[in-house]
Amino acid sequence: MCFTRYTLEQALQLRDPPNSILFQVSPHPAGYFAVLGLHDAPDPDRPDEWTFFHYISFPEPASHVNERTTVEHMAHQKQLAKLFMGRVAKAFEWMSDDGRSNAWYGKLNHWDPAAEGHQWNNRGGRVTIAGDAAHPMTFQRGQGLNHAITDAVALRDGIVGAWKVGVGMQVEERPEMIGQYEDGMVRRAGEEVRLSAKNTQMLHDWEMVMNSPVVKSGLNQGKREDGRKV
Ligand SMILES: Cc1cc2nc3c(=O)[nH]c(=O)nc-3n(C[C@H](O)[C@H](O)[C@H](O)COP(=O)(O)OP(=O)(O)OC[C@H]3O[C@@H](n4cnc5c(N)ncnc54)[C@H](O)[C@@H]3O)c2cc1C
Repeated sequence: MCFTRYTLEQALQLRDPPNSILFQVSPHPAGYFAVLGLHDAPDPDRPDEWTFFHYISFPEPASHVNERTTVEHMAHQKQLAKLFMGRVAKAFEWMSDDGRSNAWYGKLNHWDPAAEGHQWNNRGGRVTIAGDAAHPMTFQRGQGLNHAITDAVALRDGIVGAWKVGVGMQVEERPEMIGQYEDGMVRRAGEEVRLSAKNTQMLHDWEMVMNSPVVKSGLNQGKREDGRKV
């Protein structure tokens, strides 16, 4: 994950024509997946203060411990970027070591709460978990926050349903209420964890990318208003 502030000219080139692209994803035939987006623009009139977010993800054995330093990660990302063209290549080429770029490494990991041995003890409903604490998932499908919010709503609904005005919640009702919340969350989010993992793998497999509905039908839907093909 790289976060970079560029010079005025570079930032404008990455957004040329202005406001054209907010977020760009680029799969590569060699099994890489590049992302480039505008992360933060505190002042729309000061492109040299904008922060861009960009990374190129790459397959790595699950057991492999990546020991690159931050500097080495940046060098590795720059190296991978040479396989790309256009603004994606530029975004990495222009990363500098003057403090305007930074990089973090995060292995694409997940935790399926429905998998055997992944259950937790909720201590009679006194403690439970939600969001990434319960079901961290790979993020290319963009569903982690959605499920975290759904968890919060389900838990809130459970508490409201079990709450009796003037009395509160009966202690004996608590295990069942929390149990129901956890069962629903584990089923729903567990499926999403598995779908997300599949999606992440597919995005790093060129043949699967090219055979995906996005490429086969989504990108051939028609023309834009200005006449250019979508
Ligand atoms: C690159 C990327 C892209 C993503 N894109 C999307 C997307 O498009 N759509 C989507 O739905 N999801 C997306 N996600 C996933 C989403 O960000 C997470 O699923 C979501 O943030 C989880 O929310 P959370 O509140 O459960 O956990 P977090 O957001 O991780 O919040 C946990 C908080 O607890 C704090 N904390 C940790 N330990 C302690 C402690 N001991 N004491 C006090 N505080 C502590 C942390 O600092 C953090 O602020 C993306 C994730 C990544 C990495």
